[in-house]
This record gives sequence, structure tokens and C-alpha cells, in this order.
Amino acid sequence: MNNFLTDTNRFVNKALKLTSISPGLANKIITCNSSYTVRFGVRLRNDIYTFEGWRSVHSEHMEPTKGGIRFDISTHVEEVEALAALMSYKNAIINVPFGGSKGGLKINPKDWTEKEIEKITRRFSQELIKRDLISPSQNVPAPDIGTSSREMAWIADEYRKMSPTDINAAACVTGKPANKNGLIGREEATGRGVQYILREFFKHEDLVGSIKYSNGINEKSFILQGFGNVGYNASKFLTEDDGMKLVGIAEYNGGIYNEKGLNVDHAKKFFTKHGSFKNYPKASFIKDGSLLLKRKCDVLIPAARENVITLKNANDIKAKLIIEAANGPISFDAHKILSKNKVFIIPDILANSGGVAVSYFEWVKNIRHIRFGRLEKRKNNIQFNTIIEAIETMTGKQMPAKFKSNFIDGIDEIDLIRSGLDDMMIDGFREVKKEYSQMRNPDFRTAAYKVAIEKIAMSYDSIGL
Ligand code: NAD
Repeated sequence: MNNFLTDTNRFVNKALKLTSISPGLANKIITCNSSYTVRFGVRLRNDIYTFEGWRSVHSEHMEPTKGGIRFDISTHVEEVEALAALMSYKNAIINVPFGGSKGGLKINPKDWTEKEIEKITRRFSQELIKRDLISPSQNVPAPDIGTSSREMAWIADEYRKMSPTDINAAACVTGKPANKNGLIGREEATGRGVQYILREFFKHEDLVGSIKYSNGINEKSFILQGFGNVGYNASKFLTEDDGMKLVGIAEYNGGIYNEKGLNVDHAKKFFTKHGSFKNYPKASFIKDGSLLLKRKCDVLIPAARENVITLKNANDIKAKLIIEAANGPISFDAHKILSKNKVFIIPDILANSGGVAVSYFEWVKNIRHIRFGRLEKRKNNIQFNTIIEAIETMTGKQMPAKFKSNFIDGIDEIDLIRSGLDDMMIDGFREVKKEYSQMRNPDFRTAAYKVAIEKIAMSYDSIGL
């Protein structure tokens, strides 16, 4: 069995020991319900190429099940099962009414042109749709490593063609482009969620004090691994909104470091243009990006992939706070070492759940067939205007113009999305913190797992399982 899956189950087992869940139910919770393997041929470059992919459903205590699809050459069924399990647990923590699933296609997207990837994605989708492994009511994918809104639009289009009478067709997948039944704010959501969780952490003096940091997120330095969707967005928001200082970025083909701070958008532009940080003008280049994980910083943000902090490097980590933006970046054994070294870890099942939170909003919007705020905005404008006029008349004073326009214009859909996301992240954090505060040997990851599995157990229990 692969490390990632074994380790995920070891984390669950550790938390299970703190519950009164029966061994039979515990086994049901841990077990992945099903994994479908598909091998399909696509005619490309005057030949037939065979691809292999998976869709695993970990838990159907709530439906639809939900979880991204990754396109990655190193993916395999056990990785997909581990990721599907993480989806069940993160949905439970933030109270998203979905079960957990995940998909993977063994492919290096860089080997293929856009047209070819489209053809491959559409064929893969057909195979999954045929078996209800993509469906608005049963199984709803989203982007993950190597996929984006582009692939989600192709998947949605395939589903619509194969189910032309399904009025909820658009809800078969989330993370679609905003102009294709998507939601502004989904692309940034996982990074945004990381920001909200980190902000919340720094508001808890007891937690901040436990790692002997000064209060406040402002000016805290951080190193990021993985400059893709999640990593880019998280680092952009943390530097621009919260005044954090990004001192290092590690990518698979090298990283950069500058203790005075890096500009996120400048670095992104450079990396997108050159495909590497080599010769980046404003920082030192480190050929082996993984070495950056060991450098001094306040917060370490792994946002690339699993198993990057293991027995090999856990003892060398200098940061006292790690927030797992990626899924499974810390192995079980590394977690033990880090805990012994008093490193505080905010686990993946809480830290990166912002993606599925906003996916939930997108799914709801697709089912409702109306955008959030559509009905009430104009009515609110009129009401707020009336209140302001009344106050001005009664006091004989004018309200400041900026305050007035903020108040009267109300909020747009994106503001609603961000506020809903913030609320879900904070609630999730506080629930885990409550559990953590009651533990004899406090460990935030175990607390998060305990919260998740107790909710799943309750859900199974209430249907008589
Ligand atoms: P992505 O493909 O957009 O970005 C991943 C980035 O990591 C790429 O820039 C890639 O080059 C880099 N990378 C790959 N291997 C690396 C290595 N060994 N060292 C350094 N960099 C490396 O993927 P993403 O969507 O940003 O996902 C990143 C992580 O976040 C994954 O673990 C994913 O499962 C998790 N996640 C993603 C979402 C989402 O909404 N996209 C939601 C929850 C969790």
C-alpha cells in the first residue's frame, strides 16, 4: 500500500482512539467505497494512445460526493483513494453536505497540445459520465493538480451533450469558467481559504503563544512550495492584504529566495514566461527547490503535492508553523517529529477546504439557476437609501460620500462568496480548536480528524448503519 493512503488511515486511526465509535463503524468510515479504473484509447498524432484513469468514491454518507480530478503522470489508484478520503473529512469539518471522492488521470499535460488535452479530457469524461461517476446528484468533480476551469468547461459540455434533458446539467462539475455557469471566486477559493485560516490562527493568542510568536500576521515571513493555483493565490492574498513577506518560492525545477521579500505577481509573470525561476533577477536561484523547505521563516506553506516533508527532512524544518495548502504534504512519521519539535501544523483537511466550500456555492447556484444576490440587491438599495435620507433629514448632516455609496450599493456576488467562505473557514477552525483545547496531548490534526469522523459516524448512525 502506498504511503499516502497508509498515512491518511494512520491519522484517522489515531483520532478514532479518542472516540467511542465502534470498530465496525470505524472500519466503514476508513474504507473507500469504490474505485473505478478506466483505460481508454484516443486517436492522436496518427496513432492510438491508451490512457489510464480513476475515480474513487470514499464515502457516500452524503450525496453527491465531491472531489477534484488531477492530471498527473505520477498519480495512481491509491493516491486517488487517499485524496478521496481527505475529501470526506474536509467536507465534514466545514459542514459541506457532500461525501468524498476524487479522480486522477495518468498523464503529463505538458506532453500534449491544448487540442489534444481537450480530446483526452472529453473521452475520459464520457467514460465517467456513462457510469454516473460524473453527475450533479451523485459525483461532482472540480479542478486539482494539472486541471483548471478549462478542463471543467469541457467536462460540463460533455455531460450536457450526454444528458440533454437534465436541467441541472451545469451542476455536474464545479470550478467552471465564470462565463460558463461557474462562480467568480472559485478559482481563488482554496488560496483565499488558506488566507482566512491563517488570519484566524493569528487571532488566537494561546495558539500563537504556544509557538512563541508575536501576535499579528503582519510582517510574518513565509516560504511557499508550489506556485500553481493554490500557492499563487494564497501568497498573493497573504502579501497584498495581510502584509506577510514571501521570502522563498520552491517549484519542481528550482526555487528562489530573497529575505527582503518577493513580489508575487512579478515572480508569477517570470515563471509563466520562462517555465522556470532560473535567472530570476531579484533573488538567488536554488537549483533544488526542496531545500527551501528547510530555510528559516515564520510560516511554511506546502502547496504542491503530498509527501514532501518526510523522515528525510522533518528534523531540518525551521518554521514553527506549517499550513498544509496541499493535500498530504507531511507524512505520518514526519508529523510525529514535527510535533516533538513543537511545530504547529494546520492540517490539509481544514487548511485547503476553501476550494470545496466555494464549489458547494457554485453547485447550489447551478441548481438554483440564479446568481446569489440577484433578487434582493435592488430592494436593498432602495431600503438603504431611504434609511440614509431619513438619518440625514433628522440630523441635518450629510453622511460621508464613501460610506454612503458602500452602504447603498450593497454587495456583489463575489463579496457574498468571500463572506460565506470566511464564515465556513472560521467556523471550521473554531470547531477544531475547541476539540484541540480539550485534548490531553493537543494536536491540531488529530483534533480535526476527530471532528470529521464523529460527524460522519453520526451521519451513518442516523440512517441506521
Ligand atoms: P496546480 O497544478 O495548479 O499547481 C501545483 C504547482 O506545484 C505547480 O506549479 C507545479 O509545478 C508545482 N509542483 C509540482 N511538484 C512540485 C515539487 N515537487 N516541488 C515544488 N513544486 C512542485 O495544482 P493546485 O490546484 O494548485 O494544487 C496544489 C495542491 O493543492 C495539491 O495537493 C492539490 O490536491 C491541493 N488542493 C487543490 C485545490 C484546488 O482547488 N485546486 C483544492 C484543495 C487542495
